[in-house]
Amino acid sequence: MTATNRRRVLLAKPRGYCAGVDRAVVTVEKALEQYGAPIYVRKQIVHNTHVVRTLEERGAIFVEETDEVPEGATVVFSAHGVSPAVHREAAERGLKTIDATCPLVTKVHKEAQRFAAEDHDIILIGHTGHEEVEGTSGEAPEHIQIVDGPDEVDKVVVRDPDKVSWLSQTTLSVDETKAAVDALRKRFPNLIDPPSDDICYATSNRQAAVKEIAPQCELVVVVGSANSSNSVRLVEVALEAGADASYLVDNASFLKDEWLEGVATVGVTSGASVPEILVRQVLEWLAERGFGDVEEIETEREKLTFALPKELRPSRRGDSEGSLRHRSLPVTPV
Ligand code: SF4
Repeated sequence: MTATNRRRVLLAKPRGYCAGVDRAVVTVEKALEQYGAPIYVRKQIVHNTHVVRTLEERGAIFVEETDEVPEGATVVFSAHGVSPAVHREAAERGLKTIDATCPLVTKVHKEAQRFAAEDHDIILIGHTGHEEVEGTSGEAPEHIQIVDGPDEVDKVVVRDPDKVSWLSQTTLSVDETKAAVDALRKRFPNLIDPPSDDICYATSNRQAAVKEIAPQCELVVVVGSANSSNSVRLVEVALEAGADASYLVDNASFLKDEWLEGVATVGVTSGASVPEILVRQVLEWLAERGFGDVEEIETEREKLTFALPKELRPSRRGDSEGSLRHRSLPVTPV
């Protein structure tokens, strides 16, 4: 059989929006409804170009720092979390704040506070400069050292090798983080683990799903933005799991015909900040080129949802926070 007459797509599930991203996007939408435009948002609410552009069209203004927000205005903190210093700055400027930090990032902040209170040296495995890492390390800057992968373990210097704990960014590669922890434990045999995994369920599940399809694919397309850590990891995981090629695309307009040369099976997945409409457009593009046979491979059923920040919770009886789930942004040209 030739590649042409058995063309197919394997569509990974879970993919796309996680509970934390869903909550953060709805937070900005509800804030716009409740308080009116403009609503300021510190940093990209989630790392996805389409989401940011769509919210901008509705009246959100994205800023890098709180000093760009007019005094007394409302600012939303992004899903990646902020350090206590940012909360203080906002309070000093009299800003009304709504915190859309993902509860699973807040969990890591609390672990950092606890380990710091016990006077540990804390090794935070994560990408230097990433907003989440800046926010978490800001909880206890005098206790935390950042290690950006297994190769950086040798540079760690601690005061007491028996009082060393580790934490991680929520969106890392599961396998690479394990390698970093193994290397740390080799140096510090009494290394103290976090109470539960810091890499979140959504990151782990999306990596497990792409691992399942990648060995059968000559090409894996990951829909996601270049600054989305969990999306970039999906490309790496797909390649490690056996895909011949894998590319990250913000949307269907970035796909290239030459990627399909000699390809029979295309894998498709998307990062945790990606609305499903962008995946649908990729599938349409593939169908137009003979890849209309789509099989969804589900490796895990996700049911987690998070309540909105307290400032936006419905007060009327009968309003359901469960309606947060599966809300997607409207179809707009990308
Ligand atoms: S990727 Fe994980 S940590 Fe980040 S917003 Fe989603 S659920 Fe929360």
